[in-house]
Amino acid sequence: MKIANGMVVALDYKLHLGDGEIIDASEPGSPLYYVQGEGNIVPGLERALEGLEKDDTKQVVVPAEDGYGAHDPEGVQEVPKDAFGGELPEVGNQYTARGPNGEVVPFVVKEIKPEVVVVDLNHPLAGQTLHFDVAIREVREATAEEKEHGHVHEPGGHHHH
Ligand SMILES: [Zn+2]
Repeated sequence: MKIANGMVVALDYKLHLGDGEIIDASEPGSPLYYVQGEGNIVPGLERALEGLEKDDTKQVVVPAEDGYGAHDPEGVQEVPKDAFGGELPEVGNQYTARGPNGEVVPFVVKEIKPEVVVVDLNHPLAGQTLHFDVAIREVREATAEEKEHGHVHEPGGHHHH
């Protein structure tokens, strides 16, 4: 059974940024499940997996524009220190703020200046070329309910994250 739109895929993956240092990976025995064609994973990886089958392995290089997008300089902003209350954040750490509509906005602290904190609203992997090592563990048809929802339901139950 080949990977095509609407199929549920389980895969093990490792991710590095070109230097071989693994920055993200699936846990052993706990592959990532997604629905092909639903944009659950970055577009460049989804496209590269089309047509693969169970037990296939592949190395996929995804340029930033097919990954988490280019790094947008306008995403780097200065926030008054007061906005953080009494506790200053740590440079390099990721935090979340509430957007105007109550949405969660993740950001990374780049620098702390005397008056302001420099934050970056870009995805931490924006602008990066992504190197994936993938191994396909399972390919199956999505259930009608999974197709309707556009995501995978875990075996034995309906879990929403
Ligand atoms: Zn659902």
